[in-house]
Amino acid sequence: MCGIVGISAETNVAAEIYDSLLMLQHRGQDAAGISVCNNDDQLNSRKSMGYVRDVFQQRHMEKLVGNYGIGHVRYPTAGGAGKEFAQPMYVNSPYGISLVHNGNLTNSKQLGNELFHAEMRDLQTDSDSEVLLNIFAHELGKQREIYPSEKHIFKAVAKTHIRCDGAYAVLALINGHGMLAFRDCNGIRPLSIGIRKGKSRDDYIISSEDALYIPLGFKKLRDVEPGEAIYIDKNGTMFSQQCSDDPKRRPCIFEYVYFSRPDSKIDEISVYKSRMRMGTKLARQIKKIRPYHDIDVVIPIPDSSVTAAHQLAVDLDVPYREGFVKNRYIGRTFIMPYQEERKKSVRRKLNILDLEFEGKNVLLVDDSIVRGTTSKKIIEMAREAGAKKVYFASAAPAIKYQNLYGIDMPATSELIASNKSHDEVASEINADWLIYQTLEDLIDSVREGNPEIKEFETSIFTGDYFTPLIENYLEELEISRKDELKMQREKAQAKR
Ligand code: AMP
Repeated sequence: MCGIVGISAETNVAAEIYDSLLMLQHRGQDAAGISVCNNDDQLNSRKSMGYVRDVFQQRHMEKLVGNYGIGHVRYPTAGGAGKEFAQPMYVNSPYGISLVHNGNLTNSKQLGNELFHAEMRDLQTDSDSEVLLNIFAHELGKQREIYPSEKHIFKAVAKTHIRCDGAYAVLALINGHGMLAFRDCNGIRPLSIGIRKGKSRDDYIISSEDALYIPLGFKKLRDVEPGEAIYIDKNGTMFSQQCSDDPKRRPCIFEYVYFSRPDSKIDEISVYKSRMRMGTKLARQIKKIRPYHDIDVVIPIPDSSVTAAHQLAVDLDVPYREGFVKNRYIGRTFIMPYQEERKKSVRRKLNILDLEFEGKNVLLVDDSIVRGTTSKKIIEMAREAGAKKVYFASAAPAIKYQNLYGIDMPATSELIASNKSHDEVASEINADWLIYQTLEDLIDSVREGNPEIKEFETSIFTGDYFTPLIENYLEELEISRKDELKMQREKAQAKR
């Protein structure tokens, strides 16, 4: 998963892009980058591995002069984790195009072959974002226009849609011309646009999440439609066009469960409110299955489950307590490459307040269970702290299948629920009782915010994928996502 932002304004945009990236940091901590274009049609960039605050120093910011620009925070889902994968990615023809991408292409290998053999483009990495950039560049370059208008640009996006399968929210700078945004035909990854009145023109921001608009003085205009492209030329004129023949709105439901900030709205649905409804539905399920439950206290596993857990406690009429204190300065444990490090890291990241556990029946709430590392360790900690019984609730249903659309999920075989029954998972994590949200309740919790949405991307729960899959794709992905293979890849990269 990644975070992307683009700003086109009257004045220099780098400082605001930097602030935006800080507000999107939760979407990726592996690498960060910014590219901006200035009035002399010069493209200036800085990207590197690490957190936003580590990548950009004063001396870098001073060189990032330009009034339209894009930024990226990276969280690797496809390709490796080295610095060559940091974005924006750049291609010098036509015009010089810099691009950032959130999502994952499912046919990037096939497209990579087409680019190399038929279109004579050399790719430097196995990143699907580099493939996407080159496909778009090829389709734009083919039109052989010295001064591309929005029509040429939209035509290139339409061709890109035809060729690329998967999920992509994209921002690109076309050097000397303007800034482009487009969203895949299913609208799987989020993207929205905001506006701010300037002295001589309107300023625009386009980003994965809208939580950053108000702090930066922007007002949300709307979500970018699935399949739509928006182009803001260098003078600040905005153009938009639907570039897909068959757009469908199918947002990724996991954005609401885990990824997005609670203060964001995606496709008009408040993430915060949908999490509250997840809590309400869980409470309803508990009351139905165990009307005479003996839960003494509800405790969230911070941070993403806090909203759902609080509402669950209110609806159950049971005290809500903070039983864990999170060290905010440690990266997300999931990102720790290997299982042993993950286990140790959970303990370092979350400290326990024994007094909330001693002699009590506790209901721990997390947003989801993936490998089961966090839940197992946390249940062990709760027991050590003196809990009588430890119940565990997940605000999402059982995750059984790998994600193909930009969320870094482990190989299917490493998902705790992939080949275990409900009771087996409960026993493996050592919970006295385990309760998962049903898929129907999860969908209802989210859809209530925008009943016009008919479908959500829910494949990690169902194994049903919306986009065409090329032969052996799932098998190859399964192998590449195994811890063992990741370890070998990283060792090889370190030697280079
Ligand atoms: P696990 O310990 O593998 O079961 O992971 C569960 C925890 O990871 C939960 O606390 C979630 O908040 C978090 N989580 C879920 N999905 C992801 C993801 N794709 N990347 C990082 N963390 C995640």
